Amino acid sequence: MTPMANTAIIGAGISGLACARRLSEAGRTVRLFDKGRGVGGRMATRRVETPSGVAQFDHGAQYVATRDDRFRSALNATGSAVAPWEAARTGLSTRGAAAGSGDPPLVGSPTMSAIPRALAAGLDTQVSTRIMSILRTPKGWSLTKEDGASEGPFESVVVATPAEQAGSLLSEHSKRLADEAAEATTAPCWAGLFAYAAAPGTDLQAIKPVDHPAISWVACDSAKPGRPNALSCWVVHARPDWTVAHLERPADEIISLLRKDLEAMIGTGPELVLAQAHRWRYALVEKAAPSPFGWDADLGLGSCGDWRIGARVEAAWLSGHELAGAMLA
Ligand SMILES: Cc1cc2nc3c(=O)[nH]c(=O)nc-3n(C[C@H](O)[C@H](O)[C@H](O)COP(=O)(O)OP(=O)(O)OC[C@H]3O[C@@H](n4cnc5c(N)ncnc54)[C@H](O)[C@@H]3O)c2cc1C
Repeated sequence: MTPMANTAIIGAGISGLACARRLSEAGRTVRLFDKGRGVGGRMATRRVETPSGVAQFDHGAQYVATRDDRFRSALNATGSAVAPWEAARTGLSTRGAAAGSGDPPLVGSPTMSAIPRALAAGLDTQVSTRIMSILRTPKGWSLTKEDGASEGPFESVVVATPAEQAGSLLSEHSKRLADEAAEATTAPCWAGLFAYAAAPGTDLQAIKPVDHPAISWVACDSAKPGRPNALSCWVVHARPDWTVAHLERPADEIISLLRKDLEAMIGTGPELVLAQAHRWRYALVEKAAPSPFGWDADLGLGSCGDWRIGARVEAAWLSGHELAGAMLA
């Protein structure tokens, strides 16, 4: 029989994983649930087999900047799952950031999703499991899944989803936690994924255009460390305002618009092998909640996520890590 887990964590993105790791290292039993097919949330990688070879794209988070020593240590502990990607500085420098100084930007290797997978190692994780509601019973917390079955009881529950998805889980139980989620706002992002038969005529691997009406970021994924490079794979991220204006447009239309803008930057010529679009409804935090995590010790209910600090992988990790600290205090 599986022993009763102390804590259920809804969401196995970087914030839920950071919380789970710290609790688990302190001896708590933890079970993570995620509606996705794997862990990692927005630290995501798409791999597509094509007749010309594998196309691989990090279509969510592009690189990770580390400012906090605890976060840097946690990443270093994943060993070969992280690698420096100096080229991200080229993109950064176009908006005047400190290119060429500080710690190098990091990426997962051989995929961005390698980082969350390494952080999830040894944790009890159930993927493809959407939690619809949580219920407080005399025995503890019970979680209801999409198929109507329940999980539990648990002593405590952590909601580690984007703010917009946290509110409905929290609102019946804690007005404070639900109100905090309602304060945060997250912008959407259309991502275009393009694989070419050969490298286009540019040396650039990352571009952060200044004042482009549609594009906020372009990266050559096949130039990142450890990637398959039979194809030249590019990720294009649309600006939040452009995405909002095009949110419900069909993917084909988005692909054609983003392709035109991409090829205006990197050049045309090589044969296009694959083109896809991915819509992130909740991509980048625009307005953060008032505190880095939420914890109601009487209820045994907490919340964490990037939306409590800012639109960065490090912010998500810190939110989960600090919530676990409060739960252990
Ligand atoms: C296009 C894009 C580009 C980005 N670029 C960068 C970048 O270059 N650098 C950087 O630092 N950051 C970047 N970010 C932001 C970064 O990816 C996020 O800040 C971070 O990954 C958020 O982690 P999280 O754990 O808070 O949320 P998420 O990663 O969203 O994890 C939440 C998880 O909850 C799950 N979930 C939601 N509801 C339920 C439910 N009811 N039941 C079960 N599971 C549920 C989801 O499936 C998801 O896995 C980018 C994000 C996007 C989308």
